[in-house]
Amino acid sequence: MDRILGQPAALDALRNQLATQRVHHAQVFHGPAGVGKFTTAVAFARELLCHDPITDLHGNASACGACTSCKLFDSLSGAEDSDDPTAALRSAHPDLHIVTKELALFSDDAQVRSRKLTSIPVGVIQEYLLGPASLAPALNHGKVFIVDEAELLNNTGQNALLKTLEEPTPGTYLVLVTSSEHRLLPTIRSRCQRVAFGPLDDAAVTRWLGEHHAELDEQTAKWVVGFAQGSLGRASLAVRFELVEWGTAVLSPIQRLAKSGRPEPQLGAAIGECVDGFAAAWVGAHKNASKEAANRRAASLMGSMISNYARRRMAIAAEQCDPETPGHSDQVLAPWLGVIQAVSEFERQLSSNVNLKLCCEGLGMAIHGALLGVAA
Ligand SMILES: [Zn+2]
Repeated sequence: MDRILGQPAALDALRNQLATQRVHHAQVFHGPAGVGKFTTAVAFARELLCHDPITDLHGNASACGACTSCKLFDSLSGAEDSDDPTAALRSAHPDLHIVTKELALFSDDAQVRSRKLTSIPVGVIQEYLLGPASLAPALNHGKVFIVDEAELLNNTGQNALLKTLEEPTPGTYLVLVTSSEHRLLPTIRSRCQRVAFGPLDDAAVTRWLGEHHAELDEQTAKWVVGFAQGSLGRASLAVRFELVEWGTAVLSPIQRLAKSGRPEPQLGAAIGECVDGFAAAWVGAHKNASKEAANRRAASLMGSMISNYARRRMAIAAEQCDPETPGHSDQVLAPWLGVIQAVSEFERQLSSNVNLKLCCEGLGMAIHGALLGVAA
């Protein structure tokens, strides 16, 4: 676990469980997407499945690195950089069971196999979790199940897990990884130990970019760090799909609009083209991915990029406010607040399945409404 970037509180909590040998049989790793929850779950599994953990003078236990189990884990290093990092992990260690929505593609059940991947079917839980959970571990040193994107389990899937949570088999551990903890049933949450993960700081993201994407020029790297908002998942997407172009296509017109007060008639269309381009590239790169889910993901990335930009502009504007002039701060901050509200409305419309292109046009117009008159 020493290689995990940031997350000192979560790592302390997990190390403490290992040191006191009080590892909870079911845990929820929750926090924003792309901050290392899944990577930490795998690193934690390596510690749990080690045959011969080493305890240092401070009482901290860590995996030995030499046993059969540790060697299986270490044979995987680098897998996290591949397109589907869980694919390699799934088959690497007989007692590490990774459950993801992608497993539906390998199900024995043709109906489960043919679905688009927007949820984890209950059939996947039965086949890849409940089934193996009832068997003895292959290496005789326990078993770990990691459910990635656990919020994609519907109520039936979550209810299927309850029995395992209520009657844990000794030596069997379950980690539910989620960025939307509120979508887990209260009955699930109350039976799990919760471990909170937070966004990484910009320095950690910059360090990660330097290690994994040294090819980026300084300006692009800086843009990616801003876009990432503490998430390596977002940073990685930004690099892979060259989202720095979104800055030129969408943020630059918004900046001009705020400065000149002159309309940017192409803004809505540009937002739509960026979102559509990303969704199409995503579906092209992921077999069986759903265009609808890709659209939603792209739109949500777009929304957070714009509101994040508006928040930065508000912070700058707030510093320049004249505290002596009544109402000056409202006057300076209101346009950007309007942009943030426009994005919230955009996200609300998307969740009620309004046509994506119309939503993007609407967002463009709402941004105009909020910002026009700024320069006047
Ligand atoms: Zn070991």
